Amino acid sequence: QSQELSQVQIDYHAALQALVEDGTRMVCTGRMHTDRICRFESLCYSTEAEEFVFFHSNSSVMLPNLGSRRFQPALLDLSSVEDHNTQYFNFVELPAAALKFMPKPVFVPDVALITNRFNPDNLMHVFHDDLLPIYYTMQQFPDLDQESRLFFMEGWSEGLHFDLYKLLSNKQPLLKEQLKTLGRLLCFTKSYVGLSKITTWYQYGFVQPQGPKANILVSGNEIRQFTKFMMEKLNVSLEESSSEEYIIVFSRTINRLILNEAELILALAQEFQMKTITVSLEDHSFSDIVHLINNASMLVSMHGAQLVMSLFLPRGATVVELFPYAINPEHYTPYKTLATLPGMDLQYIAWQNTDRENTVTYPDRPWDQGGIAHLDKVEQEHIIKSKEVPRHLCCRNPEWLFRAYQDTKVDIPSLIQVIRQTVKSKPGPKKQKWTSGLYPGKVRDAKCQASVQGTSEAKLAVSWQIPWNLKYLKVREVKYEVWIQEQGENTYMPYILSHQNHTFSENIKPFTIYLVWIRCIFNKNLLGPFADVLLCST
Ligand code: UDP
Repeated sequence: QSQELSQVQIDYHAALQALVEDGTRMVCTGRMHTDRICRFESLCYSTEAEEFVFFHSNSSVMLPNLGSRRFQPALLDLSSVEDHNTQYFNFVELPAAALKFMPKPVFVPDVALITNRFNPDNLMHVFHDDLLPIYYTMQQFPDLDQESRLFFMEGWSEGLHFDLYKLLSNKQPLLKEQLKTLGRLLCFTKSYVGLSKITTWYQYGFVQPQGPKANILVSGNEIRQFTKFMMEKLNVSLEESSSEEYIIVFSRTINRLILNEAELILALAQEFQMKTITVSLEDHSFSDIVHLINNASMLVSMHGAQLVMSLFLPRGATVVELFPYAINPEHYTPYKTLATLPGMDLQYIAWQNTDRENTVTYPDRPWDQGGIAHLDKVEQEHIIKSKEVPRHLCCRNPEWLFRAYQDTKVDIPSLIQVIRQTVKSKPGPKKQKWTSGLYPGKVRDAKCQASVQGTSEAKLAVSWQIPWNLKYLKVREVKYEVWIQEQGENTYMPYILSHQNHTFSENIKPFTIYLVWIRCIFNKNLLGPFADVLLCST
């Protein structure tokens, strides 16, 4: 991996001429700053001003052309964290003629993805905010291939997990501070700016208390495509070791400790008759952890960023998340949401310490490790007495930090009991047939025939054909839902039927027009689309 930008492929004079004559060209996707990604030709960056520069010429293109709305509040989010005011992207505009008076541009020949990492020292943030979004942004644009280069503009140094970012392309990612060493005015020949949010599942509570995103668009399948890619790059063998099943306790060694870890390990091993091992980010290499998790039956850990490693669990495995005293598991669900994404096929179990005797607090630590000594006495008293941290916004709520950084002596019988409520027999990977998630198409050739008996009774015979895709599928249960709505009314009568025809006579009036809506349902909960509405006159 070469650190310096190789200038070999580039004809400098041609590039400079193109910049002066054509200026910057930008075309974006997305309707708002929160869902926008822009593709640029000849986007420049002044390392002195620390600003991106858009050069106008007769051939420059700026789509969308927002006028001053570009600053309300920004053109786009540079990170995948939505609408965060430290993550905005914009550029300064200049006429291309100004280049005459500016430092000689240095051209970046690689196709660039320009983005911000959100919190590169926290593993949850690394995967959720950066690695997955970068991976799928690269999948979205074909020229962001393995030869493209990542530019991280958030201003952090490499951070604890830089090796993971390096796996995403063959070129060394560059940091904002390194750009200065390349030149005073950098011009990206081709670049993409922004990051897809399509894979994110959690919002951290900047405007409302944290929780799952309102409209999650990712499923386990895409997560596992990503983890497969990462494991290949990490040289972690994908073939399943058919050997022994085991449980992993993922421990923290600095804070939020499990105080009776040895006892916990023995108890788990005995209860489930499985080997039980501990790993920690401090004591194991990342590849080793991935390899171990990828073949584990159960992952047990305190709430915390290391639990994002459930990404690498095999289908059918169980995640057990332990919460310290006064922390309501329902209020902190990044890992629950991950484990229960459709198609992740993981079992999720939360356990909370409800016994004050079993918690160890650290009031005298610095505030960011949960200390509360800096607060006034009344506030300290209040926090110490409280039995549950009320919902709060990110990120500096002292009561939350105080409770989050407690150590816990796990009450083993209560933990085993909650695990046993979900895991009845042996936990562990299951081979899953994945025809289970496919939806029916529309029913076809729907017809109706009415018959009138006398002046007050009528019947409606409705029939239809199976959805076209059903003949290629093995589906356990096929049902049809039919809604009969009298024209002009806003209520309808719903029916669930097993056959492809039915004669309706209940509440059917003569000389009336009915709208008939029909859809197919697989396995009780896979609802297909309604076919075009059928108009039936009795
Ligand atoms: N971390 C760790 N061991 C510890 C404490 C923290 O490996 O004893 C890791 C943790 O997994 C995360 C980072 O250090 O990647 C920051 O931890 P912090 O407690 O700030 O965040 P949290 O885990 O609560 O998200």
